[in-house]
Amino acid sequence: MKIQNDCVVAIHYTLTNTNGDVLDSSQGRPPLRYLHGYGNIIPGLENALLGRQMGEALNVTVEPAEGYGEHNPDMVQEVPRAAFQGVDHIEVGMQFHAQAPDGNAMSVTVVAVSPETVTVDANHELAGERLFFAVSIEEVRTATPEEIDHGHVH
Ligand code: ZN
Repeated sequence: MKIQNDCVVAIHYTLTNTNGDVLDSSQGRPPLRYLHGYGNIIPGLENALLGRQMGEALNVTVEPAEGYGEHNPDMVQEVPRAAFQGVDHIEVGMQFHAQAPDGNAMSVTVVAVSPETVTVDANHELAGERLFFAVSIEEVRTATPEEIDHGHVH
């Protein structure tokens, strides 16, 4: 059967960036299973899989707008070191959980450190990146009514 909305799809994938660095891969793990048509995977990949079927392999290029979004400079902020009370050592690349202005939890990455301030970036770490997926389709089946009701695979 061809992939369409309300199908459960199992894929193996390898994700690389423009430098060819492998960012993520399902190799050595069970395939990724998702319910098609519910935004459970990034739009660029979900759109590319529509109409494909089991046994197919494809290479998909996903632009930032169809992936993790463009990098938003407004989400990079310089904050006083005092905001990190209780943290002895802060270095570039560390991640912290913070509370967004809307009250939701968000993850921020330290991108610069000075004696007085710390610059944090709340963009998704893959924001602004063009992504390359090598995908093989392992299984396609009709979702159960309960899976469709919940919007995810059981
Ligand atoms: Zn459920």
